[in-house]
Amino acid sequence: MFRVQAGNPWLDTLIVVTALEAATAVVGYAIGHLFLSLWLVTLAFLAWQLQYVLRLDRWLHQGGIAAPPDAPGIWGDVFNSLRRAQERHRRRRRTLADLLARSKQAADAVPDAVVVLGPRGELEWWNVAATRLLGLQAPRDAGQLAGALLRHPDFRTLLAADRYREALTIPSPVLPSVILEVRLVPFGERRRLLLARDVTRLVRLERMRRDFVANVSHELRTPLTVIHGVAETLVDSDEDGAAEQREALELLLQQTQRMRRLVEDLLLLSRLETTDASANQQVVAVAPLLQQLCQEAQTLSDGRHRIELNADATLALRGEESELRSAFSNLIINAVKYTPAGGEIRIDWRRIADGACLEVCDTGPGIAAEHLPRLTERFYRVDRGRSSRTGGTGLGLAIVKHVLHRHEGRLQIESELGVGSSFRCLFPASRLAVLT
Ligand code: ADP
Repeated sequence: MFRVQAGNPWLDTLIVVTALEAATAVVGYAIGHLFLSLWLVTLAFLAWQLQYVLRLDRWLHQGGIAAPPDAPGIWGDVFNSLRRAQERHRRRRRTLADLLARSKQAADAVPDAVVVLGPRGELEWWNVAATRLLGLQAPRDAGQLAGALLRHPDFRTLLAADRYREALTIPSPVLPSVILEVRLVPFGERRRLLLARDVTRLVRLERMRRDFVANVSHELRTPLTVIHGVAETLVDSDEDGAAEQREALELLLQQTQRMRRLVEDLLLLSRLETTDASANQQVVAVAPLLQQLCQEAQTLSDGRHRIELNADATLALRGEESELRSAFSNLIINAVKYTPAGGEIRIDWRRIADGACLEVCDTGPGIAAEHLPRLTERFYRVDRGRSSRTGGTGLGLAIVKHVLHRHEGRLQIESELGVGSSFRCLFPASRLAVLT
């Protein structure tokens, strides 16, 4: 918008034009050619203006990259405005380019691979780490589909299913010794970020931890069996011994028994962690299994509790029987262990809307809400004293969680202090089988 102000070129030009036309009118009148003189002067003025329009047009045709031409008066004002706009534009472009370069430097400094995927899953952009960890090369791979370059079947499934919460652990397609944790993150309009992190060290440490626990447990098994055997023999052969000595031997027997259980649970846990869950699938008739576990619970309870079992005999599970037995047994034994005499224990195996549920309910002491999220951690106990008195290993619920995970199930715990607890194992419909 051009504004006419006192002292500005527009006003100056107006004054000059008016003065020129007035002078021309006087001279034209004097020589008797008033209109001709006015017309000629106006034409000359127009021609003078047109040459600047021509210069502006040429400058615009050259892309407006060079500095705009110099000119006096209003054209000088127009060209100066253009020059200022051009400089502002240049500065903004430089700032944007700097920002872009810095963002690219920052993305390249990230040790994790970052890949921008377009709406069809095509590669749009990636950082230096993506070249190193995933072998992506620019410009060769730009526009290629991610699934065609990273061919691991699990990755293709993740990509197709748009699962954003999951992280995959797969080997790098170019560095076989490197293990990557890969995840997808949605952003912008139908775009996704593919993030890949080198977790080789973590995976190795985790494997070392698992191997260490498994090896130690395995090595402890034989000496413990021997000690337990000797303790049993000593207890049996010391029937007439001093009460104090007998008490000590029984304590020894009791503790070696507890250590053996601990070692067995540790070995079971490491087996659950290290073996393939899909192996050894069978149809497990849950009702008879629960019947057996219920009888064992009656023996352990020794009449101190009322134990009730309701099991749908037609409902079976696809899975590994020994693992399911361990999980269910841990829940039922816990109910007996922690529920004081006179309490009730109810075991239910039934169909639910989207699968099946095994529920173990007791009228025991209950568990405070703050403990519930940590209950399935190894060796986590609400009350250390009570747990060790009951002879627990602290691994029972960790085993339950792992077994359920291997059977696509999940554990749901509800509990109220002073009222009781309910442990539910929920299995999806895909795991069910019907017995006739
Ligand atoms: P533990 O061998 O100590 O029983 P678990 O992993 O089986 O180990 O259980 C973890 C903790 O959860 C137990 O120490 C106990 O405090 C609590 N817990 C488990 N089941 C029950 C229950 N039915 N009632 C009350 N507390 C329970």
